[in-house]
Amino acid sequence: MQPTGGGRLHLGNLEGALRPWIQRQDDYEMFCMIADWHSLTTIAEKRVNLAEASRQTAIDYLSAGLDPDKCAIFRQSDVPEHAELHLLLSMVTPVGWLERVPTYKEKRDLIKENDTQVSYGLLGYPVLQTADIILYRAHAVPVGRDQAAHIEISREIARRFNRLVEAEIFPEPEAVINEFSGEVPGMDGRKMSKSYDNAIYLSDTPKQTQKKVNSAFTTPTKIHATDPGIPEGCVACQLRRVYDPAHFLTQWEECRAGQRGCGQSKKELAEIINTTLEPIRARRAQLEADPPAVESVLRQGAEKARAAASETMTLVRRAMQIR
Ligand code: ADP
Repeated sequence: MQPTGGGRLHLGNLEGALRPWIQRQDDYEMFCMIADWHSLTTIAEKRVNLAEASRQTAIDYLSAGLDPDKCAIFRQSDVPEHAELHLLLSMVTPVGWLERVPTYKEKRDLIKENDTQVSYGLLGYPVLQTADIILYRAHAVPVGRDQAAHIEISREIARRFNRLVEAEIFPEPEAVINEFSGEVPGMDGRKMSKSYDNAIYLSDTPKQTQKKVNSAFTTPTKIHATDPGIPEGCVACQLRRVYDPAHFLTQWEECRAGQRGCGQSKKELAEIINTTLEPIRARRAQLEADPPAVESVLRQGAEKARAAASETMTLVRRAMQIR
């Protein structure tokens, strides 16, 4: 995950990425990275405090339940092998492949509209992401649906590298799409995202959460409690489904039948979300007060990651006859 937007994670990151990781940490050897270099592809010119942002992401990882004794939790920039492998992969990756990546095209067009320059790093983003994955000779990458195209290009780069050096150095990584394949909506009805200012953060207070939920987009024609609502198009109802799977159907039916108002639904939803986030926030407060503990987790994670990364790089340098 990238520590963009101050590094704090939101409910979409939690359900779409973090929880699926936590569910797997007992059964897999897992590397959970904070992609600080990656976030520079879009924020390099903004002079943000990346070190602090990475720390916030680490706190969210730990607070939600990632266990540093079960998986490696580390910062990309603590493992220089990512940069070395990125360089070597960039020598064998055709530019045409990168120019065809849909997210690159979108971002490029957006940047050009704003009359600024497209960086070399932005084009190379999938190469760095490939290095991130195959540096650990990973077999699987748990990602949201939006990432499937990027994993496909990683498979192609890994395959091309293996063919060029005539050795099976890298397995072709497989995208494991989370069971939660849906998208958590933000308060305005678009995808919840750091860039849209529509997110509820794990670090928000219960009050902030209630306030945000109160602003959520609902059924525009439901003015009075007795007006019928359309749960399928209502942010409060969609979030209720995510956070109250056992009872949401009753709430939906009452909403549809005009037996409850949006105010009541929002009040209940905020309480449910706050109850869910309570243990995460409690751990967050502890970790915020103990920076050395967070640093020590990142150091331990970097050591674990570097050990695996340096083994791979020995194979890669040999295969490329650099050593
Ligand atoms: P953001 O859009 O807030 O910048 P990222 O693109 O950094 O989020 O996403 C980090 C991870 O969180 C990815 O695995 C992505 O699939 C997941 N994710 C982000 N937003 C959502 C959402 N609204 N619903 C589900 N998963 C999400």
